[in-house]
Formats: sequence, C-alpha cells, structure tokens
Amino acid sequence: MVVADDDRATRALVARWVQTTGLSVIEAGDGEAALLCVNAHLARVAVVILDVMMPNRDGFGVLGALRADPATHALPVILLTAHATDEPDVLRGIETGAADHMPKPFSGPLLVARVRQLAQQRAAAVRTDWQLRRAQTAATRDPLTGLANRRQFEEVLVAEQAYAKRHQSPAALALLDLDHFKTVNDVFGHQSGDRVLCHFAEIVRATLRVEDHAFRVGGEEFALVLRGTGVQGAELVIARLRAELSRAALILGSDRTSYRIRFSAGVSPLDGEKAVAAVLKEADDALYSAKRSGRNQTAVARV
Ligand SMILES: [Mg+2]
Repeated sequence: MVVADDDRATRALVARWVQTTGLSVIEAGDGEAALLCVNAHLARVAVVILDVMMPNRDGFGVLGALRADPATHALPVILLTAHATDEPDVLRGIETGAADHMPKPFSGPLLVARVRQLAQQRAAAVRTDWQLRRAQTAATRDPLTGLANRRQFEEVLVAEQAYAKRHQSPAALALLDLDHFKTVNDVFGHQSGDRVLCHFAEIVRATLRVEDHAFRVGGEEFALVLRGTGVQGAELVIARLRAELSRAALILGSDRTSYRIRFSAGVSPLDGEKAVAAVLKEADDALYSAKRSGRNQTAVARV
C-alpha cells in the first residue's frame, strides 16, 4: 500500500494502523513522490491513501493521473482530508474516482476496515483479470507448441489478405505438413512426437521475420502467412527452414536415433481478389502434389 501525506506524523500514524492488516506500507511526502512510488511498486500496491492538500500535485491531481493510466486505472484510492464533509470536495472525489473519502483526524479502526475491504476487492479483480487473460491465450494459442492456433489462423489470413490488397503488396500462404509423422509416434512414442512438434515450432519461430505469422493448424500441420512476400519469397523462407532443420537433428528413443524433421509444403499467393477459401484450397492442392511427388519438397499453386 502507498500512503502519501506531506505531514510526517499523519503518514506514520496511517502506516502504523495499516500495518496491522499485514499489508506493507510505502510512504511518500508529496504528490509526485506518490505517483513514483505507485508506479515503481505496482505489483505490490493494493490500495493508495492520499492526503488532499499536498505540494507537487494535490490528492485530486494524483488521483486523476492514476485514473488516466491504464496500468493504475483500477487501483482503489482513499482520500484523506480535513474537508471530508465539504460537499464540493466529496463530490469532486467521487467524480475523480475515489473509493472513499475519510476525514482527518481519522479513525484507525474505520481506516483499517476500509483498507482491508478494498485490498480484498483488488486481489479478486487482479485474479479475475489474470484468469481472463489466460483464457484468451488458451483460445488463441496451441498449448503444446505455443504457436497461434487454427482459429487465429483464419482471422489472420483474412486480415493479411485485406492488408495486402489495400497496400497493393504481395503476401503468401504456405501450408506445411511434417512427413511420416505417424511413424515417429509409432516408433518412438507420443512424447517423442510432441518433442518433434515443439522442435519444429521453435525452428519456425527462429526463422521467420517479425511481420510473418506461424500457426499450428492441425496435428502435424502448420501454416505460415508471410507479409510483403510473394510466392518466390515464400519458397526462400521454406528453403531456409529446411536448412535450419537439417542442421538441428533431434535425438529420439532409447537407442538415441538421430532424427531429421522433413516436411512437405504447398504455397499460394494471398491474392486480394480471391476468396480466402479459394486461396486455402490452392495451397492445400499444392501441398497434396508435393506429398504425391515424394514428400520433403515445396510445390507452388498453379494460378
Ligand atoms: Mg497535507
């Protein structure tokens, strides 16, 4: 908790009372120091207590600054003031977003009860926020490889196609499918299969540029959406990927077999004039022809 008051005695008294709740207290002597303390200890701050009359930004000013910053927007703030019963002051506090307005001199037990309640509410809100973010991540990420999932793929494909069309820039879609993946699972077990998938995803991540997107779209199927890159550029990216994979073999199984991941790829231009489903079909047909021609190669859609 942060307590800001330019009166050292009041500050110390507040700190003593609040410490009985088990919360640690950081003290600040003016408004600017209060903002610095809150931002420096954000993860540990559950409640902020502000004196209203302070130098270098008064309590209302600090409250307004906290509310304006998304990182501190939801922090509960108690205003502590000699004017706690003045209607305009109380109104201003409510309008600026204070959780409470307490009079000076304050009642220790009341302050403690309020701080405890606000700290609990804050903890619950942080927990909910964290769960929400985790759920959002789970909805968009493949949990095994950490790559974006199929749902994200469909969204990004549409967005990147629109981007390519608007900026008149090329873009490409590549579908990749690991060769003989079922054999890995059958011979070395599913754990080794998972290692192969993670290793592949790792190399893909390391090979792509920041503006490219990679997805795991099925069991051993992956997709790349490449911005500002035509079909030839996509072929180069895939060739680089093959080179990286051949340098980084995996050791699998109890007899320590050196295993090199191989994959087939189908590439199609992400043409802004076509339906996304048609582009997908072209890439898929190309992938199929790469498989049929003996795997471990890249085929380009005939368009
Ligand atoms: Mg003061």
